[in-house]
Parts: sequence; structure tokens; C-alpha cells
Amino acid sequence: MGYIKSYQHIFFDLDHTLWDYERNSTEVLEELVKKHRLTDRGIPSALEFSQTFEKVNQVLWSDFNKNKISRSAIRDQRFLKILANYQIEDNVLCNKLSDEYLMQCPTKPHVLPYTFEMLDYLKEKYHLHIITNGFDDVQYLKLDKSRLKPYFKTVVTSDSAGYKKPMASIFKFAIDKAEARKEESIMIGDNLQTDMLGARNFGMDHIYYNPSKLRHQASVTHEISCLSDLQHIL
Ligand SMILES: [Mg+2]
Repeated sequence: MGYIKSYQHIFFDLDHTLWDYERNSTEVLEELVKKHRLTDRGIPSALEFSQTFEKVNQVLWSDFNKNKISRSAIRDQRFLKILANYQIEDNVLCNKLSDEYLMQCPTKPHVLPYTFEMLDYLKEKYHLHIITNGFDDVQYLKLDKSRLKPYFKTVVTSDSAGYKKPMASIFKFAIDKAEARKEESIMIGDNLQTDMLGARNFGMDHIYYNPSKLRHQASVTHEISCLSDLQHIL
């Protein structure tokens, strides 16, 4: 074991790390399947629909994180690609689903297990911050509706920073805004590329939140499969 660093600042990712993207998104998709009677259109079930959404969404976000596509491309293409999976060509329906999804999803409040227990524990010892690849309007609504907002001293979105994780510039932007130093800071996130490699290249310690215990070769400072494990590290 190395020496114990005295961290002062903790930077959290938001989606899939604190805010339960999958659960919140699935809830909205279930509502949309019901409202628009999508099972009558050849979509087998809400669960199936939401699995297709996850697959399509992950590819689009990965392209967005690599600067290959824009914010509007995610929004324009997401439901087109999802419906194409079911041979549905219906632009009116597509636009409705896209608009309603965007409107509803950030209002869902579910967070991952032990989020509040850990934030209550950590806020007594550290300054807490957010670094998220996302859009100001959407991410602030999520923070508000999930009651996460009061825990965080600063919030940096890729939207406001003008850079995305894994770029070092967004980490620099975030620690400057937090009035922190990277040597006394640690990043917690679920994405090996954006959160972990980003923090590592910037020179900041990092904790990989890996709830599905995916196998990987990455070298990370710490790894946890449940947020409650944070109390053993911090
Ligand atoms: Mg994430």
C-alpha cells in the first residue's frame, strides 16, 4: 500500500454513477410504449424496447464523446435508429417519442443504491463536485429533481466547459472552478474511457465504479462495485 493521500475534493460523474440513467430511462420508455401503443406497432415489450434504446444510445454517446457527432445528432438519430430496428418508418411518431423522452427523462428522480448515504457521509469530510459530459439544461434538471444538487459545491458540464471528458482541459476547468488542486482531488465514475483514462491522463487519482463487475485491463487507482464501498476508501 502506498501512503494515504489527503483528499479535499471529490469529483463525481453524474449519469450511471449517481443518477440511475438506466432505471430512469426505462421508466420513461415504458410510459411511451403504453401511451403510443407501441406493442401494436410490432415492438414486443417495453423491456425489449428499452434494451434496444440502451444499445443505440450507448453507440451515439460514445460517438459524441469522441466528437464524431453533435448533440442534435443524438437527438435526431436516436429514435430513428431504434424504430428502424422494428422496421417502423414513421417520422411523426419518431419526433413525438424523441420530444417526449427528452422532456420526461431528466425529471425522473432515481439514483443508484447508497447514493444519499455516501453523499451524506462524504460531505462532512470533503468538497463534492460534478463533472459530466452533458447539456446544462438536462443535467441541472436531473440534479434538481433527484435532490442531488445541494450536495455539490460546483457542477461542470461539457456544455459549459467547452470540453468533454476524457480531455484534460475539462478536468483543469473543473479543478479551477472548484479552487482545488489535482493532487488533493479524486474522480469517481463508471466510464473507463471518459472518467478513468481522462483523470489518469490529467494526473488525478480515480475510482472506477463498476457495478456489473465488467472485466477490464485498465489500471485504476481504486475500483468499487457498490457506492457503499467508498467509505472504505474515503
Ligand atoms: Mg457515467
